[in-house]
Amino acid sequence: MFAFSDPVTKIPKIGTKISNKLSGLGIITIEDLLYHFPHRYEDFSTFKIIGELAIGETVTIQGQIEDIKTKRTWKKRMTITECYLKDDTGTIKAVWFNNPLPVKFLSQGKFVQLSGKVVLSRDNEPHLQHPNFEIIKKTDLGEIQTKSASSGGLASIYPETLGLNSYWFRRIIKQVLSQTKIEEFLPQDVIKDQKLVDLKNALENIHFPKASKDAERAKKRFAFEKMFLIQLKALQVKKDWDANQAVSIKFDEKTVKKFVDSLPFKLTDAQKKTSWQIIQDLGEKTPMNRLLEGDVGSGKTVVAVMAILSVINRGHQVALLAPTEVLAVQHFDVIKDLLKDHEVALLTSSQKKSSGSGKNDLKKAVNKGEIDVVIGTHAILQKKVGFKNLALVIIDEQHRFGVNQRAHLQQKAARLDDGKKKTIPHLLTMTATPIPRTLSLAIFGNLEFSIIDEFPKGRKQIKTSVVGKSGRAQVYQFIEKEIKSGRQVFVICPLVEESSKITEVKAATEELIRLQKKVFLKFTLGLLHGKMKPKEKNRIMSAFKDKKIDILVSTSVVEVGVDIPNATIMMIEGAERFGLAQLHQFRGRVGRGKHQSYCFLFTSDNAPDSTSRLRAMEKTNDGFKIAEADLKLRGPCQFMGTLQSGLPDVAMESLSDVKTIQAARDQAQRIIAFDPKLKKFPLLKEQVEKLDTITHWE
Ligand code: ADP
Ligand code: MG
Repeated sequence: MFAFSDPVTKIPKIGTKISNKLSGLGIITIEDLLYHFPHRYEDFSTFKIIGELAIGETVTIQGQIEDIKTKRTWKKRMTITECYLKDDTGTIKAVWFNNPLPVKFLSQGKFVQLSGKVVLSRDNEPHLQHPNFEIIKKTDLGEIQTKSASSGGLASIYPETLGLNSYWFRRIIKQVLSQTKIEEFLPQDVIKDQKLVDLKNALENIHFPKASKDAERAKKRFAFEKMFLIQLKALQVKKDWDANQAVSIKFDEKTVKKFVDSLPFKLTDAQKKTSWQIIQDLGEKTPMNRLLEGDVGSGKTVVAVMAILSVINRGHQVALLAPTEVLAVQHFDVIKDLLKDHEVALLTSSQKKSSGSGKNDLKKAVNKGEIDVVIGTHAILQKKVGFKNLALVIIDEQHRFGVNQRAHLQQKAARLDDGKKKTIPHLLTMTATPIPRTLSLAIFGNLEFSIIDEFPKGRKQIKTSVVGKSGRAQVYQFIEKEIKSGRQVFVICPLVEESSKITEVKAATEELIRLQKKVFLKFTLGLLHGKMKPKEKNRIMSAFKDKKIDILVSTSVVEVGVDIPNATIMMIEGAERFGLAQLHQFRGRVGRGKHQSYCFLFTSDNAPDSTSRLRAMEKTNDGFKIAEADLKLRGPCQFMGTLQSGLPDVAMESLSDVKTIQAARDQAQRIIAFDPKLKKFPLLKEQVEKLDTITHWE
């Protein structure tokens, strides 16, 4: 008998060569193998062997071609193709009229799969009439028998990798399933309450379902299972977090009010509401852990600055971390002007600046408490920066992060040396990824939320159009006109299939050359991509900001989150390859100034049916609405980021409704309430702990 934790090498058929291939798929243990789920099923219920065919049936058969030839009938000027196919049980003829394709692709000795109706000819010979054909490999043969014997209809299809095909997986998993000790780790009352299939049955049914409803029930169990584990983890993290101490920051009404009055605009109601929530949290002795959610341009920065001001005014320090150097610099420029009476410093790998009189050794100054606000990239978390009295950490994500990555950032932020040892800093995370309301609570179970759900008044809507092949020339003309009247343009290049940075750079470079030589000959173009050094990126961004570049071509991997009010056009190539939420992020780069802005979503020539999905972008500028639409179209999985490495599996895809998530959360809450350390559920505890190790940080 195998145990879940045994390595796959314990299976007699698996040596180092295969186990290496498996580990490439993330399969190390028996458990990993059994949790390697098929990504779809093929219906083999119509599969028949030739010896058992009956007249009138519509069937699929497989076999080897004995003979194939085409005849011409004289009278009717028609061609007839006849093909004889054999398997171990017999031979049957297939017939096509006026179809040149079979002889073109099929020949004697080839292996094929034919689907069609069995009929009797005038001379009483059974044959397949106009069957569809598909060429298969010899190794696929013999599967019919296995399929009907093992699964009675549905055959699991696994992503084929490195020469391990579905047939191989089915065989090995079948064997391992029967020889593994499978212990249920979900609490019995949870199973009962949620009417879930137990683990053993679920594993059998996800790999070898008899009918699709069996597979569905199995998927439902695994979707619940994973969500439940995530929720348990989140609640444990929250409990641990709440057990910490933080410095309570008393609200300084006068200072904050003076700051608000000095702003050139009036705060939106949403900004008032969220900053008040944050200020109240800061007053507590338990550390804040809050997510400030607001669309790009909704004005998160001033809300953050009000929190910063409250803290530094009481004599404590603040660290603000941005995901990229470009954004860190931008934050520094904005915030040092907003906080003129305080010491604000920029600390990144390539730049060290301070708003005050030339401080040579910034780290030392931070350590002595001479700097009030340190702005840098996430890398500060890695470096050993010691503070004198750090009381607030703000993380501006901008990116979409997975749940676990967020948790990881948080843990690191909590470990920053705050100079006091007994406390940890309050934590504020800012994100521009609108997460559907229905989802956020359930997904980020350990956080509090503040949502900025309105834009400052007077913002112009960005006009968005989906552009097919025929519209391109016209759009280029329009863009030319805009540039001539002084505006600037972003071009985002599509995701490249085998998305490595090198291919992305190549695609962007080619697009740059194409646009420069064929379309916008008179204008200056610039290139920005992920392989550039931070300094180089900064140089390009400043050139763009200074209007030395008219059109900035960029890869999708590059964060172009900089404020360029004069850029009014966002062109996105291969738009169908992006999720709506991501397109919305790109679009948010324009529409920041006083001029009307536009977003053009170009689709690839061979992507006709994806445009209807993109139309949602034309209809609304509201990130939350788009997120809801994306939730309906692609399910909640994407909002959770990378839960595991690789593609979402079938189980997660089936997690299409929010109800499952809510149910998982309720159940987790119930368990954690009476057994926070899961002492009564050792197997479950093991699974929750494993959530950490299967995640690849950063
Ligand atoms: P984001 O939420 O994307 O970080 P920012 O904080 O950068 O947005 O704000 C975008 C722009 O809107 C900035 O130029 C900022 O000064 C301006 N802004 C912020 N709040 C308001 C407001 N209440 N009224 C008008 N403009 C505002
Ligand atoms: Mg921002």
